Amino acid sequence: MSAALTGGCQCGAVRYELKAAPKSTFCHCRMCQKATGGVFAALAMVKKADLTWTRGGPAYYASSTVATRGFCPACGTPLTFAYTDQDRIEVTTGSLDDPWSVGLVEHFGVESKMPWLKLADGLPEHRTGDSPESPVNDPGFRSRQGQG
Ligand SMILES: [Zn+2]
Ligand SMILES: [Zn+2]
Repeated sequence: MSAALTGGCQCGAVRYELKAAPKSTFCHCRMCQKATGGVFAALAMVKKADLTWTRGGPAYYASSTVATRGFCPACGTPLTFAYTDQDRIEVTTGSLDDPWSVGLVEHFGVESKMPWLKLADGLPEHRTGDSPESPVNDPGFRSRQGQG
């Protein structure tokens, strides 16, 4: 990748730069629906070390016992998702200045996918917790998003 990808919230108070090409996924899980207010979250993953905040910085909500979600404290734009104890972070693909430059490789959380949303991209589909290493399989895992 030749140039860093940049992005930020809708009001401009928070800006960031990615130093590596992200891996882009959609997550249809109930938690991502709640966190973004959309019917799925478009997320672009990099190593935490490859994300730099270049103006301001997000506020964080610990949306579960294993993850935090960053958002602009001024305008509320959802900006990040990260498992607390992992070295990767995901920015919301729609907050990138050039989201068209990022492809799509997988779907997660398809157990909560809208039934009227027909995926025709042929990409792998995973249910939440399919991977045995997923933090949502921790015995102490709890969502902090209320009933949903
Ligand atoms: Zn903002
Ligand atoms: Zn999700």
